[in-house]
Amino acid sequence: MQRRNFLKTLGGSLALLKPVGAGAGPTPKPLELTRNGQSTYSIAISRDASLSEKRGSEELQRFIEQMSGAHLPIVTDEQKARGNLILVGKSGFLDSLRLQIPFASLGAEGFAIKTAGNHLVIAGGRQRGTMYGVYTFLEKLGCRWFATDVSRIPKLPTITVQPLDEIQKPAFEYREPFFSEAMDRDWAARNKMNGAHMYLDASTGGKIQYYPFVHSFYALIPPGKYFKDHPEYFSFVDGRRRGEAAQLCLTNPDVLRLAVAQVFEWIQQRPEATIVSVSQNDYWGWCECENCLRVEQEEGGTHSGPVLRFVNAVAAEVAKKYPDKLIDTLAYSYSEAPPAKVRPLPNVRVRMCPIGACQAHPYEKCRYDTYIMNHLRAWNKVTDGGLYIWHYNADFSHYLRPFPDFHELAADIPMYRRHGVVGLFMQGIVSRGGGGENGALRSYVMARLLWDTNTDVRQDIEEFHQAFYGQASPAMLAYFDLLQCVVSFPPAGKGDHCWCCSSPHFSDDFLAQAKQLFSQAQAEAEDEAVRKRVRQAQLSLDYLELMRAKKFAVRNGVYAPADLTDVRNRYQSFISQAKAFGITDLGEGLGFEEENQNFAYVKSYAVKTLENPSLLLHIAPDLSGRVIQMIDKRTGQDALVPPDPEAPSYPDVAGLGFFVYEDYLSSKPLEVKWELDADSTSFRLALTGTCAKGLKLIRTIQIPADGASVHTETHAQNVGNAAIDVALQSRFIANPTKGPAPEEMDDVSIVFSGQDGKTIEKKLIDPALEPAGSETYTGQSRPDGEWRMVNPRAGLMLTNRFTKAQVERCFVRWGPKNQNAVGLVLWSEKRRLEPGESMRLDADYDADYKLGGAQA
Ligand SMILES: [Zn+2]
Ligand SMILES: [Zn+2]
Repeated sequence: MQRRNFLKTLGGSLALLKPVGAGAGPTPKPLELTRNGQSTYSIAISRDASLSEKRGSEELQRFIEQMSGAHLPIVTDEQKARGNLILVGKSGFLDSLRLQIPFASLGAEGFAIKTAGNHLVIAGGRQRGTMYGVYTFLEKLGCRWFATDVSRIPKLPTITVQPLDEIQKPAFEYREPFFSEAMDRDWAARNKMNGAHMYLDASTGGKIQYYPFVHSFYALIPPGKYFKDHPEYFSFVDGRRRGEAAQLCLTNPDVLRLAVAQVFEWIQQRPEATIVSVSQNDYWGWCECENCLRVEQEEGGTHSGPVLRFVNAVAAEVAKKYPDKLIDTLAYSYSEAPPAKVRPLPNVRVRMCPIGACQAHPYEKCRYDTYIMNHLRAWNKVTDGGLYIWHYNADFSHYLRPFPDFHELAADIPMYRRHGVVGLFMQGIVSRGGGGENGALRSYVMARLLWDTNTDVRQDIEEFHQAFYGQASPAMLAYFDLLQCVVSFPPAGKGDHCWCCSSPHFSDDFLAQAKQLFSQAQAEAEDEAVRKRVRQAQLSLDYLELMRAKKFAVRNGVYAPADLTDVRNRYQSFISQAKAFGITDLGEGLGFEEENQNFAYVKSYAVKTLENPSLLLHIAPDLSGRVIQMIDKRTGQDALVPPDPEAPSYPDVAGLGFFVYEDYLSSKPLEVKWELDADSTSFRLALTGTCAKGLKLIRTIQIPADGASVHTETHAQNVGNAAIDVALQSRFIANPTKGPAPEEMDDVSIVFSGQDGKTIEKKLIDPALEPAGSETYTGQSRPDGEWRMVNPRAGLMLTNRFTKAQVERCFVRWGPKNQNAVGLVLWSEKRRLEPGESMRLDADYDADYKLGGAQA
């Protein structure tokens, strides 16, 4: 689509667009739709006009009247046409003009806008095309619908239209900015969106209607109904069939048969659905049975192989009975990489979900998104016009935190189109109260791009600011630019990366400048409505400051924020303001109640210290018995990652901890209450842990008279009356770098000799892959009693020694996403502990950084 000339000055009369230079013959004259508030025109529609065409004609009538004062009558083709007409949609009037409008190629949503003699024609697909044509024509007259409560309808007593002849079709067939601010029916229709969650109805020509929307495997084959008698329908994971928090066995023919029957039932129940989701659950746990693994092998070792073969098999059955229905599936998480052989059928839409992307930068420009671009190109090759994207553009843990991703989305929506994408779900912030950071602006800019990837984004952003913030818009626009620049590559910014639920680094300088701009905006705002919008936008800064104030430190034997009273006051004030703006959620699943529960962790914790000439160890018994700091006194380096103040239940996260699970795959450990024993010394302390299930833990943490190492021993005994399934875990969240820059993780490796005699030296960051991952070593591949995390460039090394007979698995997880971190996890065997029985897990952690001659 061509970028169209927009009206620059909105007063007085309007001469629209340059003349069409087509063909011979006399130059056509401009049309004068209204003159000084009077009009000779009627709006003409068919007596059989679709509901959306009727809506289009009424909207045209409404807005022309608002602009010019002229009320144009609407006539239907059963009446006799007289005088000048604006023909809206296909009709007898239009037929009589004998124009060549290519309705067949316009589809449901495309349209033509054309002047013909004294008439103006706006006609397209009957479902939504004609209606979209009306809104596009009104945009040409300068109308904008920025937000549900903020529009721009210019005053134009005289409306002149230069000769026009153009055709438009949307850049994407599915267009959904998923924000509370984008749900409104009128806003969505006027901005030409057709998303599944929007309150669009028959009057707006419906929408793309999913049913169900996503993660439907357990809805297809409910474990509650089938698991007991048919565990074989479900994923075989880690040695057994699992009916929860996993997937389906996709090579079982009965699973296919039942799934097809269920999809047919859904289509009958919800005939309005245009696309049915047959998609993996929001867990890991793909099936590892022999058949599923064989299919993965045949498909180049991809987990997407079994998924797509299964989805195709469902889609083939659906196509026979319901040829107009589409089947949706995901390329998400473990299935993001495309399969080697199988290709989606024409009625399948694959939604690739780049959840691991750096969201700060255009994907083609960020080193951490190389793998995403590789997946995208590969999917584009195999999907043949059936590729959708589930894009992430919000901080799902912190709806109000500043989130500078506008450069990214302005570049990536057009980038997707160039890579064959035909549908975009832009996952943003949706909650009862809405009000996520820049929700209205994002919705608007996305809508502009989703219709036309050539839109002038800068102009859209400026126009939005002018309408939304009035006199305060220069200051608010300056704040917007300041914020986006935080992540710009040098020299404009520091080039911070920003992943799903992580935050860029906001400097003190940024905060000071931002606050200054907000003061200026408040001072310049012309009325209460604008002042309120400015104040609401400023909540993002308040939130940022609150998060900063939360940061804990050890002082005088206590672990707490610098000023606990101040943090509590900030929190209360923030919550009451957020409520006053109607906000209901501060993150996904984080209503005020959950937020209060998280904030309840913000208090003082007694700290016990172990210290020798080389090492300072701080332990907080009330924070799950964790070691919270392990500082090499000679360098000041903490071997443990400081916990992220923005993490839920902060500061009860990270550190060196000991946990009890019922299974290796359990999502949560058993709750343990730790108490400090009285006989602690400055080199050794003991904790007793009591577990609800009747398990008693005795743990000692010990340091030598000198040296930067820690020895831990933990005994677990069943002191209850019933057997307990237990797997013990010792978890050390190591700090692999000296500074916070993600690039500092480039040289970090895991090094060990396996029990099979093989030497493993695994570099954690692979430029071809997502910069985060995990690895489990079991059986003979386990380290032979010792493994190390090494960072040769920084001269850092962490050695974890253990008793081979006690350790069943070694698990490592790494990533620079929230912080540079490497989690080293030891698991005991998983055992059913009978009453009176006990087991133990010991672990040593040595942070003596003397690797490769690097002097610590
Ligand atoms: Zn299977
Ligand atoms: Zn980046």
